[in-house]
Amino acid sequence: MMVIGIIGGGASGMAAALAAAENPEVRVVLMERQARVGRKLGATGNGRCNLTNLHAAKGGFHGEEVSFAEFAVSAFSPEKTLEWFSSLGLFTVAEESGRVYPYSDQANSVVDVLRFALEKENITLKLGFEAEKVKKTAGGFRVESKEETVECDKLIVACGGLAGTKLGGTMSGYKFLRGMGHKCTKLRPNLVQLKSSWGGCAGLKGVRCNCHAAIFHNGHLHSESTGELQFTEYGISGPVIFEVSRDVCQEKGDWTCRMDFLPGIEKDTLMAELVRRKQTNLPASELLTGILHNRLGRVLSQSAGISQSRQVCQLSDYDLQQAVLAVKEFEIGLTEPMGMDSAQVTAGGILTKEFDDKTMESRIVPGLYACGEVLDIDGDCGGYNLQWAWSSGRLAGLHAGGNL
Ligand SMILES: Cc1cc2nc3c(=O)[nH]c(=O)nc-3n(C[C@H](O)[C@H](O)[C@H](O)COP(=O)(O)OP(=O)(O)OC[C@H]3O[C@@H](n4cnc5c(N)ncnc54)[C@H](O)[C@@H]3O)c2cc1C
Repeated sequence: MMVIGIIGGGASGMAAALAAAENPEVRVVLMERQARVGRKLGATGNGRCNLTNLHAAKGGFHGEEVSFAEFAVSAFSPEKTLEWFSSLGLFTVAEESGRVYPYSDQANSVVDVLRFALEKENITLKLGFEAEKVKKTAGGFRVESKEETVECDKLIVACGGLAGTKLGGTMSGYKFLRGMGHKCTKLRPNLVQLKSSWGGCAGLKGVRCNCHAAIFHNGHLHSESTGELQFTEYGISGPVIFEVSRDVCQEKGDWTCRMDFLPGIEKDTLMAELVRRKQTNLPASELLTGILHNRLGRVLSQSAGISQSRQVCQLSDYDLQQAVLAVKEFEIGLTEPMGMDSAQVTAGGILTKEFDDKTMESRIVPGLYACGEVLDIDGDCGGYNLQWAWSSGRLAGLHAGGNL
């Protein structure tokens, strides 16, 4: 009986195991170093698990060779992925944005249906098995942990990336694949908070707001998006920042983030409202009350140079114009992204051109496969990374298991 070894019981490893085990003539050995499978999966989407995005077949992936993701994601598309999850017993719900979540709103529901599905006669689950050495042998591969050795005919490396270190992100997969002759591109944190040199962030910690964020590098637009922003102790976070964070501060130079805190409202409209407020008895500290989060409004009017002890009726049109600019074009310096622990995904990874995109098999070592985040593919925020894990994992499993 052919034995397929899979290192990593995360999203892509579980998808690969289930796909390979569809062939009853194959025995799958799934090796996971943690005490349970899908530990990171259980923490995704703020505990809700954004398991796919209905638009993922149209793109939203990055890497040196972006087209590498196309075949897998169209062969096992978001629709097919949802049918598959439905067959495993998972109820799901799609938001208008295309993001899909389990109906229970609990990431653990996703882990549970996969965990139950893995209880199959031809799948052996080895929990607490930390692969330390991987060797190519005459007939296949040998995977060694401290306590045990697994011999297999084919091997799928599904160890994930370095992001989310506390949830299981490791260098293991890169190390094993490099050890067998593959190259790795530079690893960078992506979908990550950004640190700022602006001293005001800590005072706004916890404030959430809608915002258009545009990142500039030496004055040139690097990336932009609109959505929820959250201030943190060190800088800025939230979905909109995750969306623009790829490769920020990776090159030397001046990095800034320009924020428009009223993306749907023109400057003239805001100016007209502030001029109207001159007829009130409002203190200047309340200039933006009713428009923005109170704390944010105060910080912005202060940074527009408006003394908080004055009355709105005493402010000049110039003062109000400065306030409008602070709301619509607030620019802060960026110093670096937070580290891999805080990142949701690793940008960079094992060079994809050394793998066959139709099978996920290595072009260097026959019988060796890789899938998921360990490869140089990462996706946009919103379910794209898990879709890549399901699609690439399933493709690797089907091919290794002889089901293609
Ligand atoms: C906080 C957070 C939230 C996220 N939210 C989302 C989201 O909502 N939607 C989305 O699409 N993506 C999300 N992501 C990204 C997504 O979780 C990953 O891209 C995806 O899990 C990658 O799948 P993978 O199988 O490649 O790796 P993982 O799921 O990380 O699985 C790899 C597994 O391999 C095991 N392993 C590693 N080394 C060894 C070894 N030597 N021996 C044995 N086992 C080993 C690890 O313990 C782990 O279980 C999030 C990530 C984080 C960190």
